[in-house]
Amino acid sequence: MPELFSDRSKCFGCEACSACCPSGAIKMVADAEGFAYPVIDAALCTECGRCVDVCPAGKGVSPCEQHFFAVRTLSEDVLYKSTSGGAFSLIADAILKIGGIVCGAVYDEDFNVVHVVSEDIAPMRKPKYVQSSLGGCYDQLSTAVKDGRPVLFTGTPCQCDAVRSYFGDDSSIYYAALVCRGVGSPALWKDYVKFLEKNGPLTSYCSRDKRRADDAHTVAYIVGGSEMTVQYLSDPFSRIYAKELSLRPSCYQCPYATIDKTFDFVIGDFWGVEKAFPELADGRGTSLVITGSARSYQMILSMKESAVILETDREHVKQPALEIPAKAGMLRRFLMKDIAAKGPDGICDIAAILKKYGS
Ligand SMILES: Cc1cc2nc3c(=O)[nH]c(=O)nc-3n(C[C@H](O)[C@H](O)[C@H](O)COP(=O)(O)OP(=O)(O)OC[C@H]3O[C@@H](n4cnc5c(N)ncnc54)[C@H](O)[C@@H]3O)c2cc1C
Ligand code: SF4
Ligand code: SF4
Ligand code: SF4
Repeated sequence: MPELFSDRSKCFGCEACSACCPSGAIKMVADAEGFAYPVIDAALCTECGRCVDVCPAGKGVSPCEQHFFAVRTLSEDVLYKSTSGGAFSLIADAILKIGGIVCGAVYDEDFNVVHVVSEDIAPMRKPKYVQSSLGGCYDQLSTAVKDGRPVLFTGTPCQCDAVRSYFGDDSSIYYAALVCRGVGSPALWKDYVKFLEKNGPLTSYCSRDKRRADDAHTVAYIVGGSEMTVQYLSDPFSRIYAKELSLRPSCYQCPYATIDKTFDFVIGDFWGVEKAFPELADGRGTSLVITGSARSYQMILSMKESAVILETDREHVKQPALEIPAKAGMLRRFLMKDIAAKGPDGICDIAAILKKYGS
């Protein structure tokens, strides 16, 4: 049997191994934290070794020629609906215009976070601070590639690397990796949704709403027809994420916590915009875009009619997520123990958890 990892905490849960297995021998199984890991059925495995070859964990990153930009869409509507400056939508629109298709993260009807392949990019906007499942996307992406369609894949850097490893150097796929501090526990999120739904069905959830022009630091959701808004760090669920307590184990040793990433695009929030470009520091959001290929550099430059595109220097790009992985403190272990302890209703004592860790 192949050894997929000697250290399970390095597994990203990217699902590339299970997607590539020709025998269907690998199933992704969620642990008590809600994070999925591959499990191999020895009876089905033919020891072909494909799963080990495709796995991006431990392969590292290499530097490339980069350009750094502050980006803001000129569309007021898209800017409002985006987290920072709408870089994702600008890049996605450029791919759709040439007949392509986009793969990104959405909430499904039960508020699970999943990647989908679609021309409808609206539900992909805004971050979901929970690990997204790539599930069936590998097959859908294969179909798009076979049909000769350009594809934009957006996701965490480990997901981008997994998809790139799966497809090899297929030039029809463009990669836009997020600046990423980590993905939160799907188990905590699931129980939190059930907790919110005690007041009626949850019909909308936005972790980075912009109505207060506060750089999207408002959480807004609709439960039982009533809308709630709360400042990001006063929201216990968001606070637990921001305190880096609920992240996947691999995030605490993330190999992508460096500015040197070889993707077409790296997109994030332009922290420190008030120093680099004070004219954009109005709380409405500006994207940081790092291009890492000649084609992505050209694509960004060609957007000048639909966006503010300001090239800048590497020293203006400062973010913990581009320097050092998150730190797992003792509290994480206690939190995960509390999440694993389910009551008779099958959910953890979420009210107590939110109070204990989210204040
Ligand atoms: C888990 C997570 C952590 C992040 N951490 C940082 C950070 O530390 N610093 C920083 O500058 N930016 C971070 N970002 C990125 C930031 O929130 C914005 O997405 C980014 O600034 C792009 O803004 P936009 O206006 O172009 O994107 P939007 O229009 O808001 O697009 C959001 C994009 O994120 C993708 N996405 C959303 N949720 C997920 C998910 N769970 N998994 C994978 N992809 C997802 C969507 O597919 C879409 O491509 C993080 C995003 C996520 C999802
Ligand atoms: S070695 Fe081959 S058959 Fe066995 S689990 Fe890996 S990919 Fe599947
Ligand atoms: S990192 Fe991805 S490919 Fe590697 S073992 Fe984990 S899920 Fe499989
Ligand atoms: S922090 Fe690193 S390991 Fe965690 S989701 Fe982001 S890229 Fe993947």
